[in-house]
Amino acid sequence: MRCPFCANEDTQVKDSRPTEDGSSIRRRRFCPKCDSRFTTFERVHLRELVVIKKDGERKPFDRDKLTRSIGLAVRKRNVTSEQVDIVVNNIVKELEGLGETEIPSGVVGEKVMGALRKLDPVAYVRFASVYKDFREAKDFEEFVETLG
Ligand SMILES: [Zn+2]
Repeated sequence: MRCPFCANEDTQVKDSRPTEDGSSIRRRRFCPKCDSRFTTFERVHLRELVVIKKDGERKPFDRDKLTRSIGLAVRKRNVTSEQVDIVVNNIVKELEGLGETEIPSGVVGEKVMGALRKLDPVAYVRFASVYKDFREAKDFEEFVETLG
């Protein structure tokens, strides 16, 4: 791993340990050339996921974008960024577990709603109201009933 400060190719791993949820390995590295320390994360990457949007457009699955939209939904709620990370990790794990490389955006949306529903009811309604199209009052009633 190249040093991000001086571009030295020869950095050393000082310490390796799994993160709390076990989804990645945190490595503390040291550059003997410039004495800098930095951390890298190693994460399982099964395959490149592609999201198929409603209009048929295909886009690479964007983990950061998912994190941001969940972050917006939980804004000012009692939810930590660690909790958001865990939700995102679980969703990615589930999506990868589907065994498909191309995933309809609706499937991603349903996974997010399922996760938010357990996490925080207000975040769930916020996300769902953006995601679902409430053109008919009946749709909304059915949706409210699923809130249970
Ligand atoms: Zn360096």
